[in-house]
Amino acid sequence: MTEKNPDSSFQALEALWPAQVSSLMLDALPFGLILTDAGLHIQQVNQWVAENFSVQPEEIRGQLLNEAFPELEKRNLLQAYQLVLQTAMPLTLSTRIHKYYLPVPMRLPGAMQYMPQSTVITPLVRDGKVLGTLTVITNVTVRLSTEQALQREVEKLSVLHEIDRALATLDLNHCLEVIVEHTRSLFQADQVLLYLYQGDRLDIAAARPGETHPQNLTENVLQASNQRKSLLKTHLQANDIQAEMVAPLLEQTSCLGVLAVRTCQQLTYSQDDLHLLELLASRAAVAISNARLHHNQQIEHQFAQTLQQISLALTADLNLGSVLDTLFSSMKQVIPYDSASLLLVEGDQVRIARHNGYDQYIGHLNGNATFSLESVQNLREMAGDLRPRVVPDTWSDPIWQVLETSRHIRSWVGAPIVVRNKLLGFLSLDRVVPDFYTQKMADQLAAFAAHAAMALENARMYEEQQRLATTDGLTGIANRRSFDAALRYELERGARFGHSTALVMIDIDNFKKFNDSYGHPAGDALLRKFARILRENLRLIDIPARYGGEEFALILPETHQDAAFQTAERIRRLVARMHGEVSVYKEPQHAPVTISLGIALAPEHAETLEQLISAADQALYYGKQQGKNRSCLFRQTQSNPAMLSH
Ligand code: GH3
Ligand code: MG
Ligand code: MG
Repeated sequence: MTEKNPDSSFQALEALWPAQVSSLMLDALPFGLILTDAGLHIQQVNQWVAENFSVQPEEIRGQLLNEAFPELEKRNLLQAYQLVLQTAMPLTLSTRIHKYYLPVPMRLPGAMQYMPQSTVITPLVRDGKVLGTLTVITNVTVRLSTEQALQREVEKLSVLHEIDRALATLDLNHCLEVIVEHTRSLFQADQVLLYLYQGDRLDIAAARPGETHPQNLTENVLQASNQRKSLLKTHLQANDIQAEMVAPLLEQTSCLGVLAVRTCQQLTYSQDDLHLLELLASRAAVAISNARLHHNQQIEHQFAQTLQQISLALTADLNLGSVLDTLFSSMKQVIPYDSASLLLVEGDQVRIARHNGYDQYIGHLNGNATFSLESVQNLREMAGDLRPRVVPDTWSDPIWQVLETSRHIRSWVGAPIVVRNKLLGFLSLDRVVPDFYTQKMADQLAAFAAHAAMALENARMYEEQQRLATTDGLTGIANRRSFDAALRYELERGARFGHSTALVMIDIDNFKKFNDSYGHPAGDALLRKFARILRENLRLIDIPARYGGEEFALILPETHQDAAFQTAERIRRLVARMHGEVSVYKEPQHAPVTISLGIALAPEHAETLEQLISAADQALYYGKQQGKNRSCLFRQTQSNPAMLSH
């Protein structure tokens, strides 16, 4: 309803607001003015209003405010005028509450679509009577942009701070998750990808959401990582992606990977955003490298602890089998495997000496299966350079051979077991998934292999000690201790089953002279040669032993007097004939070597071990007295031995 110029009200207003002042002066103001009477009829608008709201001042003069500006009604702003008229108090319309006074399109390009306005409605009062309203409209675009920019800076800083706090985590995976999640929310991204170098290759280490990445975008990722410079690409339109920012993760001199941020929205990223991403990437790089360092330290620590445990197990346990089982289980904590084996090299063959986990993949594995070392190239090469080896993926390895026992293996690592440069065998670990083992794991396995070598060496030394404890070092036949044990055993057995046991004591004649003439080493060679004659010329059940010095003893179980005498004589004659053959120097011709032998029998001549030895000794002594190089049988009557050779 239009009600033009009600005179009384207008005149009153004229008096308050002289018309002659208005036009020129008001048009020059850098803000908008709208003058209405108490009925909210427009009396005057200045040039600013005319321009910004695209109205003709002459046309709207006298119109109701809501007719000239229908938006005001839509936005319920007429109520604000009513309030001013009723209360006779000015009212400020904050942009924050009312958004904009009227939607005025921004003519300048920028983030804001409409020109924001700050509006103050003032009552025009005379003699306590409200005559009209004066509305002052100011463009607050600049102030708001500055405020917004500041606000964004504050947000950036607080997000960075928040990220820094979250990145204090030393858990690498958590750290990567924090980075992608914060990046995503900071840039309102549709996709965030974090790539890390694995060797020379860039792999996606974390992504949100999921791992969908258009192939044609990897170019940007490669470019950023190669040039170690961040980049911003807009108007991409690749798989709905509109823009991408990629920043390298630089840590001191090295590039750990890149962080890529993608959006599907038309509103693209700016250089400011890229700068913020760079800041974030540099913090992320430090956090990743800290987490990695911590992770490595933990692994090293665990590794050292495991090795120490194995060392303890090695010294505490002499049972090779249980030591190797300990080795297998502690190895698994540091270098996981699905199946593992310890292979021993025996000549040109390889034997599977111990294994773990094969049954679930290949059924029962024969514990002692052997194959030739030559037939498996991997092992053959390791035997050559004695260095550990990795096959990250057996399917793409040129030399990997699929054997009956290796069908399930996708990733493999092996290390040689070496003692003093001698190859004892191999440790071999298998995984059913590809790309699992790394060179670092191979090096760790080598440390375990060193322990396996120690275990094997200890076991070998233990066996050797056992052997040394019972055999004579020079001649390799039984020593005095095992001779005593064997004789005691044979005497008991003979007594129980009613057999007689013969004992022959042997002493080399004039051995001192032999030593003096040809030297001690030649004497040793003679002792060894003599021991060999004994070993080779006796029955399997007979036991030759070195009794001490150049004295030997033979235990002849289940033997009677005549047979014992014949055996002694056979040995004596063999020795007498070996004249000239014993020199290890092949010069000069040795004088004839002879032996004297004393024979005694249990139970005929003695019952106890001591008595028997003493009886045989007496017979030997008698033989020496009679001129050496003879066999002499013990008789109670020493003066008249029953049998005497020569
Ligand atoms: P007889 O005919 O009376 O037995 O005289 P013999 O010289 O053989 O006896 P004697 O007991 O006088 O000397 C034994 C020698 O054996 C003395 C020692 O040097 C030598 N002998 C003992 N054990 C070894 C050894 O392991 N190697 C060498 N080369 N000689 C040894
Ligand atoms: Mg002697
Ligand atoms: Mg002698």
